[in-house]
Amino acid sequence: MNIESFFKLSYGLYAIGSQLEGKKAGYIANTAFQVTSTPAQIAISCHKNNFTSKIIAESGFFSISVLHKDAGADLIGKFGYQSSANIDKFSGFKHTISENGAPILQEDCLAWFECKLVKEIDLGSHILFIGELLACEVINTEQEPLTYSYYREKRKGLSPKNAPTYIESAHIENKQEKPETETKGKQYKCSVCGYVYDESAGDHKHGIPGGTSFENLPEDWICPVCGVEKEDFYQL
Ligand code: FE
Repeated sequence: MNIESFFKLSYGLYAIGSQLEGKKAGYIANTAFQVTSTPAQIAISCHKNNFTSKIIAESGFFSISVLHKDAGADLIGKFGYQSSANIDKFSGFKHTISENGAPILQEDCLAWFECKLVKEIDLGSHILFIGELLACEVINTEQEPLTYSYYREKRKGLSPKNAPTYIESAHIENKQEKPETETKGKQYKCSVCGYVYDESAGDHKHGIPGGTSFENLPEDWICPVCGVEKEDFYQL
């Protein structure tokens, strides 16, 4: 069995949104796909441990925003690697709220859909939510959609553990190429999201100047993309 086969499956990347009693929730999905045309229905797969799955099941509505190729790492990190139980992921990002209460991301994306939940299928670790289309809109015609292969191969991103397509990094970390950057500094890779800390470049988001060795990063330094701590990095 060749695990690389899974990387030949093609997906997009989407920001899912839902809200219940004022609590917004969302996550990054790659498994979002149209399953019927009349009526139009779209299915999404969500891990049972994912806070958003509870919000979708109870509210009965969810949104899907199609991310574009240059969607910010901060958005992907926040939506993909943190929990809506602790933070409002939509805060700081342009979004609207539908009549049914679903938050809909309106930045770093090309189009959005709003769906009414019509069926749930228990898949063991995940739930397949099937929604009937209520509304949809195109908001950006300039850029291309972000595909999972582009995210993985060009942006060096990895799936979080709750993703349907998650594969243990031990299976793939030795097969991933180093980022296409010309540097002299040592590089350390985040095992969660794939972000690479380059000693010669530093971390501008956190005010770390270029030339700062990984060892000299403050103890409370965290990954600027997904928020994990230094111990989750390994040297390339
Ligand atoms: Fe990270």
